[in-house]
Amino acid sequence: MISTPEISAASQTRFEPVIGLEVHVQLLTATKIFCSCSTLFGAPPNTNVCPVCLGMPGALPVLNKKVVEFATLAAMALNCRINETSIFARKNYFYPDLPKGYQISQYDKPLAEHGFIEVPAEGGRKKIGITRVHLEEDAGKSLHEGFSDADEKTAIDLNRTGVPLIEIVSEPEIATPDEAYEYLTRLREIILYTGVSDCNMEEGSLRCDANVSVRPRGQKELGTKTEIKNVNSFRFIREALIYEIERQVEVIESGGKITQETRLYNSHEGKTYGMRSKEQAHDYRYFPEPDLLPLLVDAEWKAEIAKTLPELPEARRQRMVKDYGITEYDAQVLTFSKALADQFESAAKAAKNPKRVANLVQGELMGRLKAKSLDIEHSPISMAGVAASADLVESGTISGKMLKDLYDLCFERGRDFSTVYDEEGRPQQSTDTSALEKAIDAVLAANPKQLEQYRAGKTTMIGFFVGQVMKASKGQANPQLVNELLSKKLG
Ligand SMILES: [Zn+2]
Repeated sequence: MISTPEISAASQTRFEPVIGLEVHVQLLTATKIFCSCSTLFGAPPNTNVCPVCLGMPGALPVLNKKVVEFATLAAMALNCRINETSIFARKNYFYPDLPKGYQISQYDKPLAEHGFIEVPAEGGRKKIGITRVHLEEDAGKSLHEGFSDADEKTAIDLNRTGVPLIEIVSEPEIATPDEAYEYLTRLREIILYTGVSDCNMEEGSLRCDANVSVRPRGQKELGTKTEIKNVNSFRFIREALIYEIERQVEVIESGGKITQETRLYNSHEGKTYGMRSKEQAHDYRYFPEPDLLPLLVDAEWKAEIAKTLPELPEARRQRMVKDYGITEYDAQVLTFSKALADQFESAAKAAKNPKRVANLVQGELMGRLKAKSLDIEHSPISMAGVAASADLVESGTISGKMLKDLYDLCFERGRDFSTVYDEEGRPQQSTDTSALEKAIDAVLAANPKQLEQYRAGKTTMIGFFVGQVMKASKGQANPQLVNELLSKKLG
């Protein structure tokens, strides 16, 4: 069993953690930010490169318009104010996978500022501020394994240099590792809805660094922070933060001092390790990029980009609760992805009773998916299939029991509902009154004791009889009709 680590109660009462997150998101443009090289993931090493992204002397960057549109869209979705003028800057540092010796980023004049994300919190919702969203280019990749002399040498793949990124920096307003997890989940969901990134953590399209410090409760002044870098899942970030908070509390309580440093998280051990002392902004000698003009996003362009802003997940959930009479939990499941929510809505709109569609997803589909370890996007029964089945139940053509059996068959055969319904010869529940009356007579005759109890006043026995008739009909009878006929017969 996986145990979920928690911060100890002792640390929690005496100390208060302060967390800020920096998230890098790769934008889904076909070409890089300053040249026309492909951004395709997984190409053979060093094939998607040119003089610009290799940093050859004299090669000049040309800004990709789509990158600006995507970044602006994402910033709008994160409730940011878009700066009409932003400035590209050189961030100077040496690293083998950074051929120019500097990274083009934005510094004191970023693309967007003053946004927020709302997360569920105790007793309602909490706004976590977003300090800034800025544009930058990615660096290359150092490879330490996967080739014959990997034990002696490091290889460099520069396909990733110049791939467009946005960096989303939160205010240090995140109070717990759980809140950090929620923030990241919401952020990812919002970005996915805008369609500007696939946020694939395995391919590095979404990367997160966490800054964390602790201070005695009640103290205003912030403690010294450490930065946890390159953690590759939200669950691990939560775990790394828990470990790091406990570690810092222990150091302080035993009279030690926290060193400002970058730490790495080892998910196998559940521990963070010091990697290097943390750079300060002035270490990078930022200065304005002389090869690029200031970036102008004027009101007209902004308005055009705003038109492409889709309905965002939280707003959509609230509307779906209202439109379909579903619970917030249902809405949460059904907005798992934009594609799924779209499918659900078109199916529900086409169905006779949208609420029944939602109920079937919740009551009949999710459990079967879970049992087969399938996510809803790989369900054999499509949303259209759920809608079709909902209509059949709604019209009384099939019973709930028949629907369950048909769903089981769909999962066995890996086919959609309508196909299986046809394969089964379009079954209908029995509404043949004379046949049902015969079945009822047989059930009453076979259960004289229960009948006696009923006549003696135990009217709840009717449920037993309905059940017996349904069983005899192999679930094909319409339970409502059985109920009516039985009531009539029993007087
Ligand atoms: Zn290039």
